[in-house]
Amino acid sequence: MSDFTIKGWCPGAYRPMRSGDGLVVRIRPRVARLNAEQTLGLCKAAQTHASGVIDLTNRANLQLRGVRDDAHDALLSDLDALELLDATQLLEARRNILTAPMWDTADDTHTLSLKLISRLNELPELPAKFGFSVDAGDGPALRNASADIRIERALEGGLIVRADGAETGRKTDRANAINDVITLAHWFATTRADDTKRMASHLRNTPLPTNWQGTAGAAAAIGLTPGPSSRGLILGAAFGAIPAQALAQAMTGSKASGLILTPWRLFILEGVHSAFEHDFISDFISGPNDPLLTTDACPGAPFCTSSTVNTRQIALALKTPDLHVSGCSKGCAHPLASAVTLVGNQGRFDLVRGGCSWDEPTKRGLSPDDLLKGNVF
Ligand code: SF4
Repeated sequence: MSDFTIKGWCPGAYRPMRSGDGLVVRIRPRVARLNAEQTLGLCKAAQTHASGVIDLTNRANLQLRGVRDDAHDALLSDLDALELLDATQLLEARRNILTAPMWDTADDTHTLSLKLISRLNELPELPAKFGFSVDAGDGPALRNASADIRIERALEGGLIVRADGAETGRKTDRANAINDVITLAHWFATTRADDTKRMASHLRNTPLPTNWQGTAGAAAAIGLTPGPSSRGLILGAAFGAIPAQALAQAMTGSKASGLILTPWRLFILEGVHSAFEHDFISDFISGPNDPLLTTDACPGAPFCTSSTVNTRQIALALKTPDLHVSGCSKGCAHPLASAVTLVGNQGRFDLVRGGCSWDEPTKRGLSPDDLLKGNVF
């Protein structure tokens, strides 16, 4: 077995996290894309070494769950052969970059993402969750996604580098944007307190120098929904869980040239523009109003030892908009308020309205049957 540290916060491929059903191995696709060969290879690896389900995370990364300890080395070799492995664990940890999914080859988003990847060794030591977004389309798409330093389009055209938490950013251009990102990362690293892990919380206590402010960003882009798009067919995965076999069928059936990942539990079959009627997408969300697009559920039992309930089974059966089913009060899948939150508790569910999984429930001890009969919300 590989020499990895079992630790909870940011699992990677080299350093997986242990969960109730085995190891969780995270893969960080470059520029939010896998080519067709990489996608099919990853589907095979998920079925050979893991549970057969690929999780799409809210940072557009992919996770394999249920990896046995003695399968980890073989999985790393497969990922390496697919060119999905960084040269070192340090580079993997630093490559915490969100790329806006609707890029075109050689546009600002694509070019600057690749440039940032090539200069990761110039970054200072940063907290594990500290990350970057490259989001230089006509309007930013990733404002609601987690990142600490952002490259965005300026309101007047051109580019800005913006510290997360600041209203405005520094004007820059394609030639200088990555220099600016690296300089701002060094400012954060040298001015933060040890327990300050994110840029926005740092700015609450430390003023951002004025030369990093002053240029407004463009208005946000319209969010993606399942359906056709300029890059291909957009599909949704309930809870971000993508069955590997179904994905392989969708890739081969549609002859997609690649897979584009988003942070919104949506993925794009690249280059597919006429596949809406076909069976090969039936395992995925293909309509824009499906309530499962706004339903969150953590893996729950039997995958997480903190859960005594099957979260996803009940969420799928209920199909209620703005629903969060959490295996316990920790709320890993959605640490925010929902219209309805069900929290597993000794094989039953507690109900929280308009709150988070750790808030005081309005009802306790509901059985799955109570919930399925209705009238409890
Ligand atoms: S919310 Fe609780 S049960 Fe669900 S994954 Fe997190 S720790 Fe496990």
